[in-house]
Amino acid sequence: MHPRDETARTLLRLGKTEFDMLSADALPDSPAHDWTATLAVTRAQDASVWTLRPLHLGLPDAAEGTRAEIRTLAIDSEDAFRAALDAWSDAADADDGGVGVRLLIGIALQGPPEIAARWRTSDGWRAIDRVFLEGQPGARLWKDGTPPPPDDLPPERVARFTSSFGVEAYQRLRRSTAVVIGAGGTGSVAIPMLARAGVGKIVIVDSDLISPSNLERTHASFPEHIETPTLKAALARDHVRRIDPDIEVIAFDGRLPQRAIVEEVAQADVLLGCTDQHTSRLVVSDMARRYLVPAIDCGGLIEGANGLVTGQIIQLVLFRSHDPCPRCRGMVDDMRMRQELMSPEERQALLEAAGDQAPPPEAHEIPQIDTVGYITTVSGTLAAGYAIGWLTGRFEPPFERMQMNLIAECLDVTDRPQPVDEACSCQDERGLGDSGELPFAIPAHWGAARRL
Ligand SMILES: [Zn+2]
Repeated sequence: MHPRDETARTLLRLGKTEFDMLSADALPDSPAHDWTATLAVTRAQDASVWTLRPLHLGLPDAAEGTRAEIRTLAIDSEDAFRAALDAWSDAADADDGGVGVRLLIGIALQGPPEIAARWRTSDGWRAIDRVFLEGQPGARLWKDGTPPPPDDLPPERVARFTSSFGVEAYQRLRRSTAVVIGAGGTGSVAIPMLARAGVGKIVIVDSDLISPSNLERTHASFPEHIETPTLKAALARDHVRRIDPDIEVIAFDGRLPQRAIVEEVAQADVLLGCTDQHTSRLVVSDMARRYLVPAIDCGGLIEGANGLVTGQIIQLVLFRSHDPCPRCRGMVDDMRMRQELMSPEERQALLEAAGDQAPPPEAHEIPQIDTVGYITTVSGTLAAGYAIGWLTGRFEPPFERMQMNLIAECLDVTDRPQPVDEACSCQDERGLGDSGELPFAIPAHWGAARRL
């Protein structure tokens, strides 16, 4: 299976569950272990992305895929990997019986994994441009049989960051891409935090204009952005450009799962969900599984009203490819999703059709979620911080779903882990790429995403 344009970049992604299984047999002094696996193919504008399916599962019928041969072995040095690579290269020209991708993973006894990968074109074998191992951001790709070159040294402005986390952590951020869904209360602070730390590419997605009630919490927003209608995504993009003009920043007026945004997610290192929409949360988790891109969802709300505040809640939820989905977690409400997907005209039509009768529940306005700037700021900052932990490999979130209440004793911090619901099919969806059904059909009134 070949990309439509052989000059396009080719990317290969492995989820954590599959990588752990592949590497478990690579023990010192053991022979190399060979696996065959199925990869789903996702075609983006200028890239092809292969995603590894669970090792016991293939693709649904008629879905586009390719066969991969994966060899894992334990190594104790670069020289050991070079020797293995030479032997592997000699074998590559042999008849592979329809293998489209070959992957060699050296599991180093100390340090990050070393990887070589190639795919078959009509002209023979070609190098793969990037390999993502979920949870292994330090993995080194040997393109064309040579280890990666050293990176540039970091600038003075990140001196405190590099003295804490190390120069290599900054260099990993510089090579990383983060996609942030939502540029309001939480997103408008997560985005500049990622930019200031040094993330090399940031993709910003939001379809809303700044409104007067956003001024209380959306960072970098001012009254002038009400006088001149301003998209939240454009505002956040301009904020990043002022922080560091060398960051590649792309802004979309749009929403997941619109195609142009999906293609960016499939090539990203991390995905942040920064909206309070049930549909958005569901699709962020879906993208994380399909394309093996780890995601963090964040939010915050005030409980109580009219001066009687009973709770000030911050929540972060991890949606890595192996984590239970929002349905397993009971975090999405189908009626609420129907409300979110409905156009104002459709809602009006439902109200009119009801006449003197009570309208169906979908026709009601979505209940407002109250929140305030310091809550969304803390939540968005924490999400950016844990994303930096993943991107650098320096730390992991010590929870699966964290909630804290700012006005409870010791903040009442709780982790709410949840097993995967046996009746839910989400774990079979790992690495599905474009195959299978999206969690909901894109409503006609959304149209296509517009790149700003
Ligand atoms: Zn599930």
